[in-house]
Amino acid sequence: MPEPDLPTVKMNLIRPTKPATARVISNELCTRGKSASFVKHLVLDVSTTPLAGNFHAGQSFGVITPGTAPNGKAHKVRLYSVASPTWGEDGAGNVVSTTPKRLIEEFVQQSAKDDPDDHRLFLGVASNYLCDLRAGDEVQITGPNGKRFLLPVDPQAHDYLFLATGTGIAPFRGMLLELLEAQAGPTSSRIDLIMGTPYTTDLLYDELFQQLAEKHANFHYHTAISRELQTTGERGLYVDGLIDRQIEYFADLIGNARTIVYVCGLDGMRYGLFRTLIKHDLAEDYLVVNASLQSRPVSEWSDRELKKGVKPTSRCLLEVY
Ligand SMILES: Cc1cc2nc3c(=O)[nH]c(=O)nc-3n(C[C@H](O)[C@H](O)[C@H](O)COP(=O)(O)OP(=O)(O)OC[C@H]3O[C@@H](n4cnc5c(N)ncnc54)[C@H](O)[C@@H]3O)c2cc1C
Repeated sequence: MPEPDLPTVKMNLIRPTKPATARVISNELCTRGKSASFVKHLVLDVSTTPLAGNFHAGQSFGVITPGTAPNGKAHKVRLYSVASPTWGEDGAGNVVSTTPKRLIEEFVQQSAKDDPDDHRLFLGVASNYLCDLRAGDEVQITGPNGKRFLLPVDPQAHDYLFLATGTGIAPFRGMLLELLEAQAGPTSSRIDLIMGTPYTTDLLYDELFQQLAEKHANFHYHTAISRELQTTGERGLYVDGLIDRQIEYFADLIGNARTIVYVCGLDGMRYGLFRTLIKHDLAEDYLVVNASLQSRPVSEWSDRELKKGVKPTSRCLLEVY
């Protein structure tokens, strides 16, 4: 099995103890139509920071929200994926984008010390801070972070299956622009992206992906909408459900020794994917399954067992949070 040759990238050039100052260029909604969630495409000028020219598509960077946490200490760093290609939004690595989603919930008990009857509005600290920012505002950043979720050194040597839920699409925006819109010309490798969201209106960067798919015959854009009936009248689909339903189409790509599978977004999406790969006998190059599980059919394995007993190989890259 050919191992993907990943580039060596810079890490932690800016530490949380000495964050650098980026400046907001723009901050606009990137959902499709009128969505119940709020997700922004945030563009930052990092030209005066060590991040300039030193981030890769697939990496993330840290954000430190001003003020202090309830414990009186500075807010902890939160990570946000780079949504730009390695050359940034400006072609020179001086402008980076990301895709923050407002965390808006009702409070639910997290530990024994929390009041179980407290259901007040719960607003995530950093995501709402980022979504509130306006052009010209300053942001304290750290990073870059991540050395595995990267495109290979020779992009032409591989084919790609990109699987995203929600803001997990961010790194794939950067990677797709890198693979398809490079100055040196597009790759001819096969690339399939499946974007999973609850509703059509939650699709992110949908117009861009449709345009890329129209322009490049080797790029195939699929959506898996989980809470809407399909046009066929069938129930909604998750990302793994789409692969399962169209297994003949996807088996060609997944069963090909050049392919790398990238998974980004909700932690839970890995279980459905693992089950689908194993069910269709396509897991061999992507997963190492603990012998203790193999005596029972995959349909009986719990998420916990999958988490402990199934490890992705170097051809299945996960960035889940
Ligand atoms: C590598 C990486 C890349 C990421 N990229 C992105 C990205 O591109 N875009 C993006 O939006 N996010 C991204 N994230 C997630 C991001 O780092 C933050 O975790 C997210 O934005 C929430 O941060 P916050 O400060 O708004 O929320 P916080 O104030 O940190 O609140 C979240 C925490 O509160 C708790 N919580 C959640 N819901 C409730 C509830 N209902 N009641 C009580 N407690 C609750 C949970 O313990 C949770 O950890 C990424 C994470 C990683 C690790």
